[in-house]
Amino acid sequence: MLQQKKRLIIFVSVLLTVGFLLTSLFSYFVAVSSLRYQLTYTELPLTGETIYSEIQRDLLQPILISSVMASDTFLYDWVNDGEKDKEAVVRYLREIIREYGAVTAFFVSEATRKYYHPSGVVKQVLEQDERDVWYFRVRELKQDYEINVDVDQVNQDDLTIFINYRVHDYDGKFIGVTGIGLAVGKMKERILAYQKQYGRSILFIDRKGKVMLNADLVAVDEEQRLDLLTFIKSDAFLNEIAGVDSVSLQYELDDYPVSFNVRYIKEFGWYLVVIQCELEGQGKLTRALLLNLLFCAVVVAMVLLIINRTLSLYQLDIEEMATIDKLTGLYNRQAFDMLFDSLILDLKRVPDELSLLLLDIDHFKKINDEHGHLAGDAVLKHIARLIISRLRETDIKCRWGGEEFILLLKGCDLETAVNMAEELRLGIMNHPLILDGKNLAVTVSVGVAVFHQKDDRDELIRRADKALYAAKANGRNQVVAL
Ligand code: GH3
Ligand code: MG
Ligand code: MG
Repeated sequence: MLQQKKRLIIFVSVLLTVGFLLTSLFSYFVAVSSLRYQLTYTELPLTGETIYSEIQRDLLQPILISSVMASDTFLYDWVNDGEKDKEAVVRYLREIIREYGAVTAFFVSEATRKYYHPSGVVKQVLEQDERDVWYFRVRELKQDYEINVDVDQVNQDDLTIFINYRVHDYDGKFIGVTGIGLAVGKMKERILAYQKQYGRSILFIDRKGKVMLNADLVAVDEEQRLDLLTFIKSDAFLNEIAGVDSVSLQYELDDYPVSFNVRYIKEFGWYLVVIQCELEGQGKLTRALLLNLLFCAVVVAMVLLIINRTLSLYQLDIEEMATIDKLTGLYNRQAFDMLFDSLILDLKRVPDELSLLLLDIDHFKKINDEHGHLAGDAVLKHIARLIISRLRETDIKCRWGGEEFILLLKGCDLETAVNMAEELRLGIMNHPLILDGKNLAVTVSVGVAVFHQKDDRDELIRRADKALYAAKANGRNQVVAL
């Protein structure tokens, strides 16, 4: 029974634990994956879009300024006039810088190939000079302007975003290139601000994965930063982004997942990359999972407690049913046999006195016949109560069968046992059961036997039975010892 109970409890706890664990983990992973899906395919693209439009907006004003410069009649007239007053154009460029806060402004004349700068004529662009390729590219350009990220040769080679605008005179003849430059440093600051604002890493890379703008990634640690910078140079990544306008990607890097949104910015020829390693909201999900598991553990513990308690009560009931006589509450014969056997084993090891009383109600049949079986039962209960009240708690009291009781008196020699039996007989005789106002007086006959070392259970009972038989034969209502 104990073994079975243990097995049942283990089985139920494993079943509940596995069931709860599976459902909790399953819903957790489903939630995380849908969160990641949302992040990669909705949130990151949105951030990319926002930054892209901010950049467009940032570029709009310089393009406008450059366009105004390119259609300024002052430039046409000045070039037509033969570029005589160098100071006039230098003043003009200086004014543009002052007015619009650009880092540089320039005009390159097609006629003289001179590069005019707010500080004067700084150089002459040459077709064979690698640094001047841009001019010859713009010269052949079909569109009005280009945006070029290049070093500013006049400004210690600072990385600068140039708006290179073609200038045509009144007749539409190409007379040079003008425009302004913006500091990339300012752009970097904006990117850093975006990163902080969105809590995501943002950088610009060229087609080869080289970081062009900003390698100070926020929201990642140093190790992740190096991982990411290596990864975006890998063929696996570059092949995915090659030739696309915008793409969302998910990867597992080492042991953490990363989501990317990559957008090609044609004005720069660069890719804008928005990265997120941490999954926003995952902490909440993890906390919910832990809480859920804790709750499951409490439920499992409670269920096990209830099962254990129910089984224990059930077991107690069964044990009681198997050992106790229902009518009198005394031990039944089966329990008595077990208790008696173990007592005899004890006495064989440590000898002690033991007496046995076999008690039988006299003419009990008559009570049943005259007053009915229920009255007979009431008499049996009444006698059992008298026995319990007169004997010691350690004595073993048993309903032997029908209207017979067997009593084991521990540490009692024959003389004491006979006295006890006599007292009991008198007690029963003098305390009749009162039923429906009538006295139901009964007497008992008792056979007494004392335990001898050589005795076994049957032998001792046999002697007590013999004594009881003698008591009956002698006229009942008496104690006989053998
Ligand atoms: P004696 O003095 O020789 O012992 O006579 P007796 O009538 O007591 O003995 P007998 O063995 O002839 O009758 C015992 C009766 O006890 C018969 C049976 O119906 C009755 N009896 C046995 N068990 C129960 C019980 O649980 N309830 C009731 N009411 N009667 C029982
Ligand atoms: Mg009898
Ligand atoms: Mg009897």
